[in-house]
Amino acid sequence: MQLRQKLLVTPGKMARKLNLGDRSPDYDGHKKKENVDHELARLSSRMSELQYKLFADNSQSLIIILQGVDASGKDGTIRHVMAALNPQSCYVKSFKVPSSEETLHDYLWRVHMSIPQKGQIAVFNRSHYEDVIEVSVHNLLPNNEILRRYRQINDFERYLSENHVTILKFFLHISKAEQKKRLHERIEDPSKHWKISETDLQDRRYWDKYISSYEKALTICSTSWAPWHVIPSNLKWFRNWAVAQIIVNTLERMKLKFPEPKIDVSKLVIE
Ligand code: AMP
Ligand code: MG
Repeated sequence: MQLRQKLLVTPGKMARKLNLGDRSPDYDGHKKKENVDHELARLSSRMSELQYKLFADNSQSLIIILQGVDASGKDGTIRHVMAALNPQSCYVKSFKVPSSEETLHDYLWRVHMSIPQKGQIAVFNRSHYEDVIEVSVHNLLPNNEILRRYRQINDFERYLSENHVTILKFFLHISKAEQKKRLHERIEDPSKHWKISETDLQDRRYWDKYISSYEKALTICSTSWAPWHVIPSNLKWFRNWAVAQIIVNTLERMKLKFPEPKIDVSKLVIE
């Protein structure tokens, strides 16, 4: 079975509810780090070629959504995997607690403003999924309104996909013990102090609620037009390789093409 199939959350009404307990965050795909690092270099160069073609084609765009609990490796994935991309046609958008201006609008407003134009790739570090996850964990809205948001998100993503925007969603899956280890590293390493906040430690108390909210969101919102993938992320090298592989595979399936030249290039003469 292809890696992307294995890590996919099966879309569809008949699909069973995702149980993250069934997916090991330690999974290594029976690979060895040395071999995978080598393959990552090959995938990076392919990703770069395909990005060039996406830019030239100028008829479609790609959004890569990264979600996960604190310290799950969203920043690290961007640093290691997206480094292959040319900043000319790629950007990262980080979604923080909504600003006072953002809260004056509907919750998808800031997301829609960040949708990449044709030819571009946008990486979302967090996304509109915060508007169902955070809201569920901290009981910020009644349940029926959260359920309505799931439907709105599916409709919004379907609308985008019907308008040539491909959406890829990655949940970076780490264990509670791995999160503890990483938060400890942030406390012990002065160069990582800026990354830690009291909220990270408080949110850890809601671990079980985060996991069950993610299980629900990933089950309801994994669709044929915007599928979710659960990336085993305790091993950073495996995480990077898996994400890179699924991005390359997705770009390959977008049937990108160089535009036909508007002039007969063979007749051009350079004096
Ligand atoms: P960080 O990713 O560590 O910089 O933290 C960003 C914080 O913003 C996280 O705690 C997110 O849960 C929070 N956040 C992002 N979007 C939302 C949202 N729509 N509603 C509530 N909290 C959010
Ligand atoms: Mg946080």
